Amino acid sequence: RNQKRRLECRPDIDSLTPSFLSIYNSLIPSEEEKAKQKRLILSLEKLVVKEWPDAKLYLYGSCANSFGVSNCDIDVCLAIECDGTSKPEILTKLADILQSENLQNVQALTHARVPIVKLMDPVTGISCDICMNNLLAVVNTKLLKDYAQIDGRLRQLAFIVKHWAKSRGVNETYRGTLSSYAYVLMCIHFLQQRRPAILPCLQEMEATYEVTVDEVECLYFDQVEKLKNFGARNNESIGRLLWEFFDYWAYRHDYANAVISIRTGGFISKREKDWTRRIGNDRHLICIEDPFEVSHDLGRVVDKYSIKVLREEFERAADIMQYDPNPSVTLFEPY
Ligand code: ATP
Ligand code: MG
Repeated sequence: RNQKRRLECRPDIDSLTPSFLSIYNSLIPSEEEKAKQKRLILSLEKLVVKEWPDAKLYLYGSCANSFGVSNCDIDVCLAIECDGTSKPEILTKLADILQSENLQNVQALTHARVPIVKLMDPVTGISCDICMNNLLAVVNTKLLKDYAQIDGRLRQLAFIVKHWAKSRGVNETYRGTLSSYAYVLMCIHFLQQRRPAILPCLQEMEATYEVTVDEVECLYFDQVEKLKNFGARNNESIGRLLWEFFDYWAYRHDYANAVISIRTGGFISKREKDWTRRIGNDRHLICIEDPFEVSHDLGRVVDKYSIKVLREEFERAADIMQYDPNPSVTLFEPY
């Protein structure tokens, strides 16, 4: 593969920052929207506990991990003791309850890989997916949110990267490209690698938060208010970080051997993880370790066709960041 490495970044790179920050600002959800989401969750929880008094609802995903843009759907997890009742039965029951309460477009997708109930709240217009007992997602949501508190550049970078990925059609797991969750992990890893580092590795620090879910131990330092100045010694601008991020994934990442791991704050080899062979549909063409489910490669959705699409998009983005007079427009042009 043609590895045309560039060593020098364009001289005006920092001057691109304001245009990217104004895109970031246009994407952040308003306080009003956040309040609406909270009200919807509370009203759903009221309906749920009428039927299952011990059940709880948790927000997870982008509406709770601080990487959500405005007007996005909300992800909800129903935590409930099943004792004997099957997931499809509970979800079907839940759908009946919601339907009878005038929520709209209620659908129970009980045969999906992750079974969910979908609905739309006619009062707020918010759409919502409810899954069941997916508590690891609730915990990884907290981890992402905690990282976002440490340095504001993470949220800015991740918003722009997600916006780029959506505009370019490379944020579609059913078509073999990466999830939003995977892109946020890539951003965290990237900021852990800057020198001086912009983010620490919370899972390598003394654990102040500890839960075990589905037999997975989740431990990390979560007193992030104590880390507010962590990235202060590095003053790289968003323009520069975007340039470096795309340059990294276009021209410098070792796709053949490396696994990125925010859990360890660095890299692991594919050999060490035994991710060198194709097993079933897992090809490990781009390897992103889940911070808690460590056997889980978030790149596993990528196949031999979509890896090409993805890498070409990284190269396009890197080239735009280097040569285009107007990167904050060109980067997001629809494909
Ligand atoms: P978007 O703004 O695009 O909706 P999102 O943050 O909600 O982004 P998704 O990729 O839809 O991202 O995932 C929602 C949540 O589900 C994630 O925040 C994460 O908690 C969890 N999740 C998604 N994919 C995985 C996965 N493969 N393994 C573990 N958890 C995952
Ligand atoms: Mg989501």
